[in-house]
Amino acid sequence: NFEIVFVGRSNVGKSSLIRELTGQKVRVGKRPGVTLKPTQIRFSDLLITDMPGFGFMSGVKERKQDIVKDQIVRYIERGTERIRLAVMVVDGPVFVEVVDRWESRNEIPIDLEMYDFLRELGIDTVVAVNKMDKLKEEEQNDILDGIADKLGMLPPWRQWIDSIAPISAKQGKIKPLNSIIRQRLHAEKRDDLF
Ligand code: GDP
Repeated sequence: NFEIVFVGRSNVGKSSLIRELTGQKVRVGKRPGVTLKPTQIRFSDLLITDMPGFGFMSGVKERKQDIVKDQIVRYIERGTERIRLAVMVVDGPVFVEVVDRWESRNEIPIDLEMYDFLRELGIDTVVAVNKMDKLKEEEQNDILDGIADKLGMLPPWRQWIDSIAPISAKQGKIKPLNSIIRQRLHAEKRDDLF
């Protein structure tokens, strides 16, 4: 069984993406920040785990936001052996701006913290850069370079097409992520031969 966990701030389009990927609805009628528990769905041989959205949510107390983060961290720590891939979903058009805002307050941006945490545990992590449809064609490369740079991947981002997947969940354009997942599944099968 191949477990993929999806993490991301609330409102980045994580549910839309999972729905697009699997045809199944997660978190129907959700209110941001209300669900603490991960939601799991089976999709052929995959176990898809949708983590609650983290970070600032209007109307949700800061303490609750910390609890959400702790729950995610604990779930992933306990599941390290089993989790084969993490997909961190980010909001492409605003990611760099949000990170800069945190950094200017001398705070560690929660996305970067989560990304580093996953990497430190040795979990294979893919960044799904969502809402690409909001960007003009000619600005896409710069935005993606900026995101890569923030995550410690030396631009140009195209050097990292195994780890960065520009997508639009809303428009159903998720091929780059699909390819990465398929590639990882293949790698897995090859491993089984040894
Ligand atoms: P979640 O909180 O991360 O699960 O986000 P949702 O899937 O609920 O989406 C949050 C909002 O972003 C909704 O209004 C979606 O319609 C919108 N959204 C999601 N994906 C996209 C996308 O690819 N492009 C655009 N423009 N909007 C999107």
